[in-house]
Amino acid sequence: MITNDIIIEQSKKYDSFYLYDEEAIINNINRLKNNFVGVDFLYSVKCNPHTLVLDTIFKNKIGSDAASLNEVLISKEKGVSKENIYYSAPGKNRKSIEQSIDIAVIIADSLSEIEFIDEIARNKGIVVNIGVRINPDFSFTGDFGGSSKFGIDEEQFIEKFPSLKEKKNIKITGIHAHVKSQELEKNNLVNYYKRMFKLSEKIQNVLGYELDFINLGSGIGITYSPDDVEIDIESLAKETVGIIKSYKEKFKNTRIFIETGRYLVGKNGIYVTKVLDKKFSRKKKYVILSNTLNGFVRPSMSKTVMKYASSSPMPYEPFFTCEDAFQFKALTDRSDRETVNLVGNLCTAIDVIAEDISLPVLEKDDVIVITNAGAYASVLTPMQFSSQEKPPELFLNTKNEVIE
Ligand SMILES: *Cc1c(COP(=O)(O)O)cnc(C)c1O
Repeated sequence: MITNDIIIEQSKKYDSFYLYDEEAIINNINRLKNNFVGVDFLYSVKCNPHTLVLDTIFKNKIGSDAASLNEVLISKEKGVSKENIYYSAPGKNRKSIEQSIDIAVIIADSLSEIEFIDEIARNKGIVVNIGVRINPDFSFTGDFGGSSKFGIDEEQFIEKFPSLKEKKNIKITGIHAHVKSQELEKNNLVNYYKRMFKLSEKIQNVLGYELDFINLGSGIGITYSPDDVEIDIESLAKETVGIIKSYKEKFKNTRIFIETGRYLVGKNGIYVTKVLDKKFSRKKKYVILSNTLNGFVRPSMSKTVMKYASSSPMPYEPFFTCEDAFQFKALTDRSDRETVNLVGNLCTAIDVIAEDISLPVLEKDDVIVITNAGAYASVLTPMQFSSQEKPPELFLNTKNEVIE
């Protein structure tokens, strides 16, 4: 478990750093696996591809949701087998398909990509099983689907299937959909899963054979704002397992996947930064911190979004969740408080993470912890900006050792 002592110890070496908690990641893996019986989980590598995070997750028998050739190659290198690596992304180029075709299950993202994979397989003299990403004609909350750059519209796929069936070097053996991230309403997820199984049945009737897999995509959210209410995972799992059970009465051999990135790591990483300087300017106090925008971009991104938003803006994952998605905790015993602006040490005015926030009085070298820094945190951050030293990503293992 990450303690204040561990943080303080590391902050003597680094002005800013990430710290991921292996034990907490394992707890979340077990929570999913113990409850969602009959579901296989895939980790969305793009949310945090830290090598030790991946080791922990893959060692615990979670498969790989890869969004690029490199994520396929990393997963393979870490020992994940072909039938547990699913490669789904729009616009795969020839190299990406050629190099992943033998080591991952490719999810075609368009009708033209199905033809492209068929051509590459033909050149290699092989027949490959592929999945297709479907853009369903429904959402988490309603019966209509929107237009999307992802996947093939459900009705288009059904219409075109007779000609796809003629392709000699591919066989469509699975479907994948992912329509929303960061959902905290259990019923929206349950209804989505129900619709997905109905769609799967419809597609299997068109195909005329049983699918090898149905990948339900992600959706399970985590609490960011103090006002968020945690999703009841046990109850969600219970309902999901029930839906799957009745589906499996008809389709026994289909593997069911759920993808998740943020649920496993989002809350199990923190970002730590240090007070470098403090100043007073025309009635305002500024606390200058190490590597904010260029260390963990999302808090300053939230400030920027709010600066231009008229009311409460919609989330735009994974860049913007809500105004108060990250909490700032000062590690100090001082009890007197003051109102300050928290800003970074970059030479740009946009580098602000909090304005008029009340915190314990801070002094140079004090440490501030920022929460919810495990997913879409380091990977989204423009660390090259102004050639600052990059904050290291540290890993606290189950033996309580901090590894760089
Ligand atoms: C990014 C992504 C995910 C991960 O979403 P989380 O909200 O982090 O669980 C899952 N599936 C697909 C297709 C994605 O693009």
